[in-house]
Amino acid sequence: ATPAATMVGTSIGAKNGVLFEGGDVLERVRDVDSVVFDKTGTLTEGEMELTDVVVVNGARADGGETADGGVVEREIDESFVLRVAASAERNSEHPLADAIVAGAEERGVDLADTEDFENVPGHGVRATVDGETVLVGNRKLLEDEGVDPSPAEDDLERLEREGKTAMLVAYGGRVVGVVADADTVKESAASAVTALRERGLDVHMITGDNERTARAVAEEVGVDPANVRAGVLPDEKADAVDAIQADGSKAMMVGDGVNDAPALAAAFVGVAIGSGTDVAIEAADVTLMRDDPEDVLKAIRVSEGTLAKIK
Ligand code: ADP
Ligand code: MG
Repeated sequence: ATPAATMVGTSIGAKNGVLFEGGDVLERVRDVDSVVFDKTGTLTEGEMELTDVVVVNGARADGGETADGGVVEREIDESFVLRVAASAERNSEHPLADAIVAGAEERGVDLADTEDFENVPGHGVRATVDGETVLVGNRKLLEDEGVDPSPAEDDLERLEREGKTAMLVAYGGRVVGVVADADTVKESAASAVTALRERGLDVHMITGDNERTARAVAEEVGVDPANVRAGVLPDEKADAVDAIQADGSKAMMVGDGVNDAPALAAAFVGVAIGSGTDVAIEAADVTLMRDDPEDVLKAIRVSEGTLAKIK
């Protein structure tokens, strides 16, 4: 494209809330043959809400010592599960954690003081609550800490099939409950995915979330289950993009989070959505001012339109 065409395209883009970082980006956008979406915050609103608190069948907690040295076993109820989970999460800044803490407050559950908070990226959190170790996170988190997650498997699967992010809650070395957060799919996500596919683009989704939740969301927005990569750790997202591009395809990666910056950089074209973090925006070639997945199409149309007309 001529410098004039590039200027026209860039300014049409800007008027439509699509910022192209430099002239060659327009040409690269036109050559894209696949689009990779991050799930949370990109296809979904990224605003989690606590939806479920479940006590794992038969869960009991050690309630301390009796006068004669015995152990008081007490029945665990939902407010116990929510209290320990929210207390462990109170120092985490993860959206999943914020929803659990807000959910506890809404339900009038008082939080306990915690010690030894530790964030385990991509897996969950660990903290000491009432002198006991509490874990909140996925199966891998519990397994790595030597806690068997299997008593909660049925509850986990049921919630994940509903598209929720279900998290195990372990207390004192035993799984005692499951809490689930749900996110809402953005209104235009399905129509954007459909329109991209109709244009012949291969649409993918990657997420740190588990397989079942990811598939439920993919089905809702119309991404082929074969194109879903779940359980991708924050530092693996760039590798996932490289894997998609391994056959020579040119991918546009669309993301919003701090986690997404390396993946945006690895993609043929990196697209940050407006409400995203500065890190993501810095790593991107295109920034969408609004939060709308439809604007991915706008970016493609602008690049095709201006380059077709003026060449
Ligand atoms: P995403 O790619 O959706 O932003 P992350 O990579 O941050 O997800 O986390 C992946 C998974 O790790 C989550 O779906 C959840 O199961 C678990 N996880 C991460 N952080 C937390 C947390 N603070 N509390 C509970 N679980 C967590
Ligand atoms: Mg994310």
